[in-house]
Amino acid sequence: MTDTPFEAKARAREALQTFEPYDPAFTPSKINLSANENTYSLPEGYGRALAEAMASTALNRYPDPMANELRDAIAERHGVERRAIIVGNGGDELLFNLLFTFCGPGKRLVSCPPDFSEYALFAQMNEVDYVPVWRRLDDFSLDVEALVEAACDAALVILTSPNNPTGDVLDHAVIRRLLDETDALVLVDEAYVEFAPEGTSVVSWVADNPRLMVLRTLSKAFGLAGLRCGYLVAAPEVVDMLGAIRQIYSVDVLAQAVALAAIRKRDLLVPTIEKIVSERERLGVSLSGIEGVTVWPSAANFVLARMRDAAQVRARLRDEHSILVRDFSAAPGLEGCLRITVGTPEENDCVVSALTTLLEGK
Ligand code: PMP
Repeated sequence: MTDTPFEAKARAREALQTFEPYDPAFTPSKINLSANENTYSLPEGYGRALAEAMASTALNRYPDPMANELRDAIAERHGVERRAIIVGNGGDELLFNLLFTFCGPGKRLVSCPPDFSEYALFAQMNEVDYVPVWRRLDDFSLDVEALVEAACDAALVILTSPNNPTGDVLDHAVIRRLLDETDALVLVDEAYVEFAPEGTSVVSWVADNPRLMVLRTLSKAFGLAGLRCGYLVAAPEVVDMLGAIRQIYSVDVLAQAVALAAIRKRDLLVPTIEKIVSERERLGVSLSGIEGVTVWPSAANFVLARMRDAAQVRARLRDEHSILVRDFSAAPGLEGCLRITVGTPEENDCVVSALTTLLEGK
């Protein structure tokens, strides 16, 4: 026994001592366009099917650890076998488990920032050597030669298509080169793919390329961010490894039942997805029309916009207009950038009109 004050941090695993609790800088606001959720009300028959699934689920039993009924529905969606699917508590859990399983201390993860910040974060937690291959900072295109070279020494490469937060889609030729010229595992994160043009997904490649994996989530197009359900399409051997290490009950009974109903009723979401895509184009054009604002083309349900005094603009949007967007202006390569989720037509009109007021004084 000593008199020194209790310090949990000092007792934590050394690699974790600098971590702080996640703070998305969330302030309750009238309009929340900060987290790339689907802000539309659920289509009639879809919402009803989800509610019925929830109401008829018993909570006294443990979930099926491998969520086999849900896996079957997802497998059918993609024309693969059940053995090629694993579900997780959101895509986040699967990303963490991939790094935990196939990387770890001394192994390398390569990705192409600016991209989803959790890749680097989960790498750091798992003491993985993270090697960023930076995109060109004007158009966010990939440095393909540098990527292929870095991938030669990597255990895992993660590419995001459409990319968060830049919105661009990946050229399939890059994936082909990584599979042909390196021995790395390649994860294509397709969290936003439902908003991208037909043919963007490489999920059909998985069957012939056992080192390729595709991540999907129900948090975006399916409107289920609060449910926490994502899945991976991968070689059965990869699924078995991930199945062996996963927290056995991480996808609870409600998540399994609701996700199953959502997958079965997915056709009902098509009009909403089409509306979000057309609103994305309208929002992009309107924002570009504001003095001093640059908008990049996007294939996702958000747009990235650059403007002067972005951090201050974001704070004034929140405080004076009760609109929340995501500030990336302090992130490397994203100076002056805000990421704005595509909302309903009314929400998009509000953000355009508020930004016009703030930036043009009108
Ligand atoms: N990948 C990307 C690129 C994302 O933007 C997100 C969520 N913002 C995820 C994966 C994980 O989503 P979830 O955990 O909600 O499934």
